[in-house]
Amino acid sequence: MIYKRSSALFAEAEKVIPGGVNSPVRAFKGVGGTPIFVKEAKGAYLYDEDDNRLIDYINSWGPMILGHAHKSVVDAVIEKAKKGTSFGMPTEIETQIAELAVSMVPNIDKIRFVNSGTEACMSAVRLARGFTGKDKIIKFAGCYHGHSDSFLIQAGSGASTFGTPNSPGVTQGTAKDTLLAKYNDIDNVKELIEANKNEIACIIIEPVAGNMGCIPPKEGFLQNLRALCDTNNILLVFDEVMTGFRLAKGGAQELFKINADIVCFGKVIGGGLPVGAFAARNEIMNHLAPLGPVYQAGTLSGNPLAMAAGLAMLTELDNDAKIFNRLAEKTEYLHKGIAKVLNENKVVHTINQTGSMISVYFDEAEVIDFDTAARGNNETFKKFFHGMLNEGVYIAPSAFETWFITDALTYQDLDFTIAAVRRVAKSL
Ligand SMILES: *Cc1c(COP(=O)(O)O)cnc(C)c1O
Repeated sequence: MIYKRSSALFAEAEKVIPGGVNSPVRAFKGVGGTPIFVKEAKGAYLYDEDDNRLIDYINSWGPMILGHAHKSVVDAVIEKAKKGTSFGMPTEIETQIAELAVSMVPNIDKIRFVNSGTEACMSAVRLARGFTGKDKIIKFAGCYHGHSDSFLIQAGSGASTFGTPNSPGVTQGTAKDTLLAKYNDIDNVKELIEANKNEIACIIIEPVAGNMGCIPPKEGFLQNLRALCDTNNILLVFDEVMTGFRLAKGGAQELFKINADIVCFGKVIGGGLPVGAFAARNEIMNHLAPLGPVYQAGTLSGNPLAMAAGLAMLTELDNDAKIFNRLAEKTEYLHKGIAKVLNENKVVHTINQTGSMISVYFDEAEVIDFDTAARGNNETFKKFFHGMLNEGVYIAPSAFETWFITDALTYQDLDFTIAAVRRVAKSL
C-alpha cells in the first residue's frame, strides 16, 4: 500500500505539533514508520488520505463500539448542534444520559460528567481522598488511568518504598502518595496496605487491564481486593474507561459481580465525543461541590453535543439485549482463527481475551501482569503490525494495546483478517 499523502501530511504536522500528534500513542514510535492520516471512516472501515481502505481494530481506542459514523449517533449530534453548541448552563439532556447510565450500571446513584477519562480518574481519586480523609493511593503497574500527575508513577525498589515519577514534571511530593502494586498479585497489595496502615484512600484498578495488552483479572483477584478494601476502610475505584459499556451493560461490575465504590467512565460513554464520567453511591457523590467540599468543575462538562452522542450510544446499547454477547462471539471467532493460523506457522504467541477486548503477545508464557506483558517479542510485533497494515488491517501501533472489536465487523471482515494473519505469519 502507498502512504504518500499521509507521510507528507505528517511532515507538515511535525512542524507545528510536537511529534506531529496530539496524543503520543498515535505516533508510530513503537513500530517505526509514519502515522496514517484518516480522511473518513464508516462502519468497520477507515479510509485514509491515500484512499486505502483499512479494517479498523482500534476504533478510536475503544469508543466506536458500534463502528464509525453510526447513524443514530451522528444524527443526534447534528440535530443538537443546530440549537447551539455550549451554554455553561444546565440542560435536560444531561439528566437524561445520567438517568440512563445510572439505570444501566449497578451500584451507582449519581454520576458527574467530565471531558475525558483522565479527568474522570483524577476527580475520582480526589473524591476518594476527600471522602476518606487519607492521602495515599494504590495503583497497579501497567494500568493506565490517564495522564494526570498521580498516575504517572513507577515502582521504587521495595514494595513499600515510595514511587518515583514516570515523567519529568511530576514532583516527588506527588509521587510519594502513589504506591505501585503488581497486577494479579494480592499478596503484594496486602504488603502495601500493611506498610501504610490507615493512610490509603483508594485502590484504583482497570478491572480488566487494557493498557498492557488485554490482561484479565485472575479468578478471585477482584473479590480479594474488595475484601481488603472493606477491612481496611479503603475505597475500591474501578477505572472502567475501557471496560464500561463494553464488557456488559453494567461493565466489569456486572460481568464479575463485584461492586466498586467509585467507577470511572470514558470512551464508549461519549459515543466518540470527548466525554468522561465518574459515579458512586449517594453517600460518596454527595461529597462533591456544590453539595459537598470536594471541588471539581468544567466549562464544557456535560456539553450538549457530547451528551447527545453519548445518549444516542448508550440508548443503542441499552436497547440491544444481545450486543455484548454478539461482540464476545465475534471476538472469540477472531481469537480462535488467529490462534489456529499462528500455530500452523509455528509463531510463538499468547492471546488474551475478555469479551470484545483481545490482544496478541509474541511470547509463549502466560501474560498476567506488566512484567510478563513486557516479555513479548517487540521485533516480531513490528513485523506483524506492518504486515497487517500492508494487508489492509489496522491494529494499534504498539505491542501494549488491546484490539477493540466493533459490532460493525462482519464475519467476512473477520475471515479477511484471519487470512491476512496467515499470510503475515509466514514472514514472522
Ligand atoms: C483511555 C483510558 C484513560 C484515559 O482516558 P482519556 O480520555 O484518554 O483521558 C483512563 N483509563 C483507562 C483505563 C483508559 O483506557
